[in-house]
Amino acid sequence: MYAYAHEEIAHLRQRLDWTRQRISPEFRLPHQVLGAKRTIGCVALEVTQRCNLDCSICYLSPNSESTPDIPLETIMHRAQLIREQYGVGTNVQITGGDPTLRNHDELVRIVKRVAELKMVPSLFTNGIHATRELLTRLKEVGLVDVAFHVDLTEKRKGFTSEAQLCEVRSEYIERARGLGINVIFNQTVFARNFEEVPTLVGFYKQNADVVGMASFQLQADTGRGLTRARKQTISLDTVGGTIDEALGVKLSWENVLFGHPKCHRIGYAGVIGDGEQVVDLFDDPAVLQDMLKVFDDIYLDRTRPRRAVGQVLEAAVKRGYLAPGLKYWGKRVAENLPAIVKARGKVRKLSFFMQNFQDRERLDHDRVDNCSFHTVNDAGAISMCVHNAYRDYYIQGGTGYPEEYQAWRLRDGYHPTEAGKIQAEAK
Ligand code: SF4
Repeated sequence: MYAYAHEEIAHLRQRLDWTRQRISPEFRLPHQVLGAKRTIGCVALEVTQRCNLDCSICYLSPNSESTPDIPLETIMHRAQLIREQYGVGTNVQITGGDPTLRNHDELVRIVKRVAELKMVPSLFTNGIHATRELLTRLKEVGLVDVAFHVDLTEKRKGFTSEAQLCEVRSEYIERARGLGINVIFNQTVFARNFEEVPTLVGFYKQNADVVGMASFQLQADTGRGLTRARKQTISLDTVGGTIDEALGVKLSWENVLFGHPKCHRIGYAGVIGDGEQVVDLFDDPAVLQDMLKVFDDIYLDRTRPRRAVGQVLEAAVKRGYLAPGLKYWGKRVAENLPAIVKARGKVRKLSFFMQNFQDRERLDHDRVDNCSFHTVNDAGAISMCVHNAYRDYYIQGGTGYPEEYQAWRLRDGYHPTEAGKIQAEAK
């Protein structure tokens, strides 16, 4: 999955050029990942609209339950479209609804096909039917990540706090432990659980031996959920600040940019021991920008950290980056040596991600045009925020932008069907 042929790299570079053109000039910055290392943050491949939960905040349509699953061959066609549009190494979210409601033999074939196309399959699920047996079958055909969605919006019986739900999270961790699958936890942040964000951060620190990423999705007013508008107090700044406080270190959220700065932020923590000490891994923007350039076509095997380190060292030697790389990481180790020694060298990478989905009635066209999270339909991919806002149009087979959104863009001076403003200066 991680060894690419010359023509695959050539195609990827062509798609990276296409992505650089797609990104607005003001966001073509040295720390911009899109167009430099990635053609897209990730692409959702929805395999069903059905779900076995009815969350109070949900991006699905009220018609989702009655929407038949799309045929397997259509899903395989869409997987091929993702490969053609974004290239090898693309992160593909196999999602829904809840994908584990799809026939499991078909789910195995879908994951297998995405891996065969040298893309990176991740299963996004509420975990209820994601048994160890199913995860094992999916791993055998190339599954890389499992992202469990667990939070209070799901109204799981008997759980009234995020702290209590850590019981469910622990059970899911044990289902995945030792399978060689990267584990991610997703949670929506809303008024009822904002105060418990520090509890969640503490839990993920303690379980950083299995958990590789914690993703905090800020509530958005879209879809079928009954809980609508987000409280003003919940923002990328307030959630990021709360995570920093709970970690005891300020993460360099501003050092990595995926698409538009209002859409999300990512921070990389090094957890020493069982979380006694946490380090901000990328506090030097210049180093990150160098790494974006040096390792632009290197895709790391995140299911095998040691192999990933080997991949980096091999490329660093070949590309003359060993000395600056060792200087940077050597300095990090020296700064934290007592804690690392006390922890017998146990240091884990734990990423924190914040996703700031847009409200249906307040779509920002600039964010849509610089979107780094797409979903695919029969004609290609579009922004997930537009898909969520007009989900009925798309689940009934619509492609491109629906007329209502085209008219909205036109009213605001934007091209109705493609990125950018009308009469915009030449890109
Ligand atoms: S436009 Fe929406 S889906 Fe796209 S990156 Fe921004 S928040 Fe995410």
